[in-house]
Amino acid sequence: MNVPTPVPAAARLRVTGVVQGVGFRPFVHRLAARRGLAGWVRNTAGEVQIEIEGPAEAIADFRRALECEAPTLAHIERVEIEPLPAMGRTAFEIRPSALDPERRQPVSPDAAVCAACEAELFDPGNRRYRYPFITCTDCGPRFTVIEAMPYDRERTSMREFPLCPECSREYHDPASRRYHSETNSCPDCGPRLWLQRGVTAPGTPPDDDPIAVAARLLRAGQIVAVRGLGGFHLACDATNESAVHLLRARKQREQKPFAVMVRTLEQARAQVLVTPAEARLLTSRERPIVLMRRIPDATVAPSIAPGLDTVGVMLAYTPLHHLLLAAAGWPLVMTSGNASEEPIAIRNADALGRLAGLADAFLLHDREITGRYDDSVLRIAGDAPIFVRRARGYAPLPVDLPHESPVPLVAVGAHLKNTFTLVHGRRAWVSQHIGDLENLETLEHFQETLRDFRRLFRVEPEVAVRDLHPAYLSSRIAGELGCRRIISVQHHHAHIAAVLAEHGYTGRALGVAFDGTGYGDDGLVWGGEFLVADLAGYTRVGHLRYAPLPGGDAAARAPWRVVRGYLALDPTVAPAFAPAFAQVEQHALAFVDQQIAAHLNTPLASSMGRLFDAAAAILGVRSVAQYEGQAAMELEALAGNRPEEPLPFPARQTADAIWELDPLPLLVALGEAVARGGDRGALAAAFHESVAAGAAELAARCAADRGLTTVALGGGCFQNARLHEVIRRRLEHRGLRVLVPRRLSPNDGAISYGQAAVAAALLSREVCQ
Ligand SMILES: [Zn+2]
Ligand SMILES: [Zn+2]
Repeated sequence: MNVPTPVPAAARLRVTGVVQGVGFRPFVHRLAARRGLAGWVRNTAGEVQIEIEGPAEAIADFRRALECEAPTLAHIERVEIEPLPAMGRTAFEIRPSALDPERRQPVSPDAAVCAACEAELFDPGNRRYRYPFITCTDCGPRFTVIEAMPYDRERTSMREFPLCPECSREYHDPASRRYHSETNSCPDCGPRLWLQRGVTAPGTPPDDDPIAVAARLLRAGQIVAVRGLGGFHLACDATNESAVHLLRARKQREQKPFAVMVRTLEQARAQVLVTPAEARLLTSRERPIVLMRRIPDATVAPSIAPGLDTVGVMLAYTPLHHLLLAAAGWPLVMTSGNASEEPIAIRNADALGRLAGLADAFLLHDREITGRYDDSVLRIAGDAPIFVRRARGYAPLPVDLPHESPVPLVAVGAHLKNTFTLVHGRRAWVSQHIGDLENLETLEHFQETLRDFRRLFRVEPEVAVRDLHPAYLSSRIAGELGCRRIISVQHHHAHIAAVLAEHGYTGRALGVAFDGTGYGDDGLVWGGEFLVADLAGYTRVGHLRYAPLPGGDAAARAPWRVVRGYLALDPTVAPAFAPAFAQVEQHALAFVDQQIAAHLNTPLASSMGRLFDAAAAILGVRSVAQYEGQAAMELEALAGNRPEEPLPFPARQTADAIWELDPLPLLVALGEAVARGGDRGALAAAFHESVAAGAAELAARCAADRGLTTVALGGGCFQNARLHEVIRRRLEHRGLRVLVPRRLSPNDGAISYGQAAVAAALLSREVCQ
């Protein structure tokens, strides 16, 4: 459409999207100045408002440039323009922000230090040479320093640092990169960095460079707690096997992989194989941890990620990281600053207390962290990224719902890998990764963050949404929020709804939900589910055959118990399963057998996650796990890229016309092949292919039966890149449209968003009736 709209000589524009904390007002000022336009721009809590006047063509040109030339971190959703009478204004100004309690809008998440700031950081002639808090309008902290909206220095933790004359000059100079940069500071006026050994020891003497001292300690194999953007990291030399062991011992984290930080893409390539898609992700301004394949001559210690073929690597994202890595000269382990399963420490006093036994020294600063954000973790499947953990750099950007919710609501999420979601209208603010709701500290983190979100985004929920599981802590929390109504959503329905909703899909689809465990509507443990679902409801049309799960949740750490459960279905297959029990004491076996026979804490389960554990145990990968999913991850690593043909994994229809995939013959085939001396790697690959082929076959059949052409994949098992890719390809070859999680994780981190999508759909249907 090329019809020119008549533009008056003055106009009011309202811009929504990520337009605060991204240098948007200075950008607008420059655009207007360049075109000789007068008027003003200001932030409100809901949008950026602009009034301009001048020649009509210049206004039209301004309107065009507003979207085409927007700053790097901005994401414009909508621009509304209305004509105004000209008032004879002659200058353009940035006005103070207006507080508007009725409006809510997103802010940019934190962004990695930009190239211009990085260059200044290492330029001896620059006044910010080696200044660990260098930022500009294109980079630096946002959500980790913000206390309230609209985004202005006085509502961030930078409030404590009044601008010196030089910084103030930059702040007010339209030609400066730091024009209206709310985090602007320098060595004269900004936050201070120091090194402290232990709680009572003094900080670094003024003459000593805290970074050089920290690097020296790291080189000597010591552990340094580093206060970063969203919380503390524990750092050690990643190439020093004994330093990594020391960190594991102190953190009581025997085998769970550690992430590694390097300064440049080239340094990453010295450790892992980096594909073009992975390189894009690594160097993105979000700077997540990316799981990539380790190369044979990598120098990082093998104990970084025992048993796995991948290493999680991220690039330095704060000036402090750049300085520390430059001084150290080799990759650093950068793992969350906490003891085992607690939330990461964010305050100096908290770190000095909780991390006292873990770190030998503390690299501290006095810029308070207002929001706790772990590093985000992603991996690439096919050519597209999958979230393993969505936090710093991504959260809490809203993921809009396809249905407007008639009332504000809060969805409290899952028990493990918890997040929550706040909804107002179609806006869904998905929180960062909170953690497993299994200890008091994580519960407090949940409550604090929810409080912050309610204040920041001005949402007072009237409806709470929770899981169906009656005993979950999250279910109790939902009851204590004071909402007038509570809606319960089945776990796997939430998984599928999350995928449908992020794609804006409101029709019916065949959902394949594969994960560890979720409470089924028959009271049993679900986890290998085929659902015909839309956002408002679902019918279960197929599932993995039920097997006893002795010990319930405890079985997640004991793959051999899962195999024992399968054995109970048909004791004649015992010889094929023998390798799974080789390391297990006789009395433990006898105890579990009694447990199964007496139905004692032995729910029936259709869990795909546990099936992967069982296969790992039968292939001799491991029969006891240190963390949930360990056996399955090692099984994926063992399979590697080997091409293998699938083994039979047939489905049959039960008396009530529900399809059942029976894994017993597949497990027996694996066990027998091992006994014949078959290659375990090839068998691990064949297992992946078999599950993918069997699942795709059944999904296609169920979809055809119901006349459905769309399939949605959700649940933690789809973090397995091979399973994910093969199922997707097989379904697409059959002409089906496949929806996969892109903006949120396949795992339980997406449950709160799925719960919110279901509740919004139900509530809007009630309003219509
Ligand atoms: Zn910058
Ligand atoms: Zn200054």
